[in-house]
Amino acid sequence: MKAYIKRLPKQFRDLLYLAGKLASQKGMNVYLVGGCVRDLILGAPNLDLDIVVQPECPNFTSELAARLNARMVVHQRFKTATLITPRKIKLDIATARSEIYPQPASLPVVIPAGIKEDLARRDFTINALAIDLLPDNFGGLVDFYNGRQDLEKKLIRILHDSSFIDDPTRIIRAVRFEQRLKFKIEPYSLELLKDASGAGMLNQVSPHRLRDELMLILKEEGASRHILRLNTLAGLDFIHSKCELPRKNLIYLSQIEKEISSFRSMFPKRRALDTWLMYLTALLANLSKEEIKKFSRRFGLRKGEEKRVISFKKFSPSAVLKLTRKNVPVGEIYKILEPLSFEVILLIKAKYGKKTLRLNIENYLRHHNGIRLYASGNDLNKLGLLPGAYYKRILNQLLHLQLEGKISSRRAALSWIRRFKCPRN
Ligand code: ATP
Repeated sequence: MKAYIKRLPKQFRDLLYLAGKLASQKGMNVYLVGGCVRDLILGAPNLDLDIVVQPECPNFTSELAARLNARMVVHQRFKTATLITPRKIKLDIATARSEIYPQPASLPVVIPAGIKEDLARRDFTINALAIDLLPDNFGGLVDFYNGRQDLEKKLIRILHDSSFIDDPTRIIRAVRFEQRLKFKIEPYSLELLKDASGAGMLNQVSPHRLRDELMLILKEEGASRHILRLNTLAGLDFIHSKCELPRKNLIYLSQIEKEISSFRSMFPKRRALDTWLMYLTALLANLSKEEIKKFSRRFGLRKGEEKRVISFKKFSPSAVLKLTRKNVPVGEIYKILEPLSFEVILLIKAKYGKKTLRLNIENYLRHHNGIRLYASGNDLNKLGLLPGAYYKRILNQLLHLQLEGKISSRRAALSWIRRFKCPRN
């Protein structure tokens, strides 16, 4: 049993051991909990360390931070803290607590408790395992709810009958773990899940909590599988009443997945994609611009996120036609695609999959996206051209010559500029 903790890299183990030693000196208990324990047993790497201490001790976290020379961020609202060590290892610390749900789908009332109660409030048995960190029993598995057995049987099982009613976001979480781990939702839990979603429980959750869980599921590798399963088990109208998944959309979703993976392998150094936003945009296809705006406010999307969803909605059929034609001047393609984010460009590629459109987009991404001019306004000034509105025109022409490959060095750019007959100093 103690073998599980040995699977962690030494630095992480040492840190946990130190936490155990400090807790023992203070007469406290401390456990590693949650997804990290689940994944250690599964042999999957997960270095998100969550620990739970019991009983509450305000000094524990600050003393541990001092011993680790770690930065401490306290989250007053949740009574938790995060330590970040100089080697950037992150440790989340909470006090063991029990939760009471005054109303279905509401936020729980939290009361201090022992580890058994703390594990009992969790979503599934496989997430209700803990590892003891006290030196005497370092690495000992704490398994009150047969989580290890469910991991072996590959089952997602809730801990009590009202679990999905208390917190309907667990419906989304159940699908996420089922699909990610390739497990099954245990039959009785599945029945209760269907009951809760049939009763419209997801519609009772606050939009921001829904958004957080939705983001997590849409960020998963192979998100289209997750969406499909969620649609089958709970429907998608908790996102918006106009969200649906007709056959056409299914092909589109898996095409999005392909575009994401080909973008990542073609351009490993470009900024990471907000893949969740791409799937969300696809799911919101039936909404009008106004409805998207309303949705964004309700779900608390950021301005930049809303802008990307809308820019896809507004993408004009005439621009699609242009992209679909052969021999369109590169400057025109640049003009269409340059204002758009990678997410929107890839959505266009996924949706209008014609061969020429795909080639035009790939050519743009490979050669022209982020192109840097070989000369600047400063250069024009240094070359003696008096500043004026034509600066913009010259630089625009330079851009087009560069896009067409007619100017391919700074030297060539400067000698081309010298030929301009503009007012000079
Ligand atoms: P991941 O690998 O996706 O990070 P995780 O299990 O670490 O999965 P978190 O969302 O980070 O998931 O949550 C950490 C732990 O907190 C979970 O393992 C679970 O024990 C508990 N938990 C999280 N959300 C809920 C919930 N809605 N209801 C009950 N317990 C939850």
